[in-house]
Amino acid sequence: MSDSAQHNAQQKAIDQLRKHNITDVISLSQKLLSGDRSALSQAITLVESTSELHKNLASQILNNCLPHSGRSLRVGITGVPGVGKSTFIEALGQVLLSHGKKVAVLAIDPSSSISKGSILGDKTRMEWLSQQQNAFIRPSPSALTLGGVARKTRETIVLCEAAGFDVILIETVGVGQSETAVHDMTDFFLLLMLAGAGDQLQGIKRGIIEMCDGMLITKADGDNGKNAQRAGAEYLSALHLFPPTANGWIPKVQTCSAIEKTGVSEAWNMIQEHATWMIERNLFEAKRMQQDEEWLQAAIEENLTNSFFCNAENKVKIAQAQQLVHEKKLTPFAAAHWVLGQQ
Ligand code: GDP
Repeated sequence: MSDSAQHNAQQKAIDQLRKHNITDVISLSQKLLSGDRSALSQAITLVESTSELHKNLASQILNNCLPHSGRSLRVGITGVPGVGKSTFIEALGQVLLSHGKKVAVLAIDPSSSISKGSILGDKTRMEWLSQQQNAFIRPSPSALTLGGVARKTRETIVLCEAAGFDVILIETVGVGQSETAVHDMTDFFLLLMLAGAGDQLQGIKRGIIEMCDGMLITKADGDNGKNAQRAGAEYLSALHLFPPTANGWIPKVQTCSAIEKTGVSEAWNMIQEHATWMIERNLFEAKRMQQDEEWLQAAIEENLTNSFFCNAENKVKIAQAQQLVHEKKLTPFAAAHWVLGQQ
């Protein structure tokens, strides 16, 4: 979404708030908690807004929602553009809805903040899923840094869970910037890979492969079926060369065709198997607690940074420090110490 489209969408949602006479956060929170998707959209718009008033409203709604959050399975899905993420999510969504689940799909797309053009958000994606009553799809907020998108996505997860969505799929483009952020807010991290795309590990950084709990070779249909099986076996042996994951889970490699709808239920089984495995070892909640601690740390850092750089006195000092650095009177390191009032 472009900046102006984003602004218009925000304004529209706020006008709607007025139209529906939602003047207080209590009624909006109640509607959201009863599963009202329009209230959920409006609350997310408040979370994404940069206005102080909206941020304040959002924070109150989040406080109301927090006790009702945490009951979903959060799944990160990544892979290079064209690997088949949206087709797979649509097929997985179908499986989940047939099991009576409510599915929310959120996107983290750092390209939207850099180029202002979104890889994930602009094209019509997941057309069928987007029309289903028990599905909710929200593109990445644009015009934000990756840190900003990540924070707002975490808050959006809380809202979606409070609205009764029990599977949250968080999609990201596998280009190396946002995977860690998604990994750090999900219970299962799924990497989609193509068969026969030249060098097997090319295009996807080693670090991303190390983070995944499961790998899915996509487009395992037609002439590509055999290639996909072969690639799966190769990736499985390649994964054995990596150090074992911190919790001892051995990542699985499977194949699927989202178009022929094969391997999709099996992918969901793999995700559930992992959750059960984690719960049995008391690792599921432990991982979430650790993620919450990291979220707290990130929030403190963000707050400190913002209040430091917005302070008028600091702005003057930083300008003076820049001058001293330009004149080669201080190194940037020494200038930073001076700005911070350190010896
Ligand atoms: P994304 O950019 O990762 O979201 O990829 P898309 O889901 O948009 O898919 C990219 C292209 O691959 C589209 O032309 C899809 O029709 C095609 N595609 C996706 N899944 C499959 C599949 O399972 N089999 C085949 N043969 N093509 C697929």
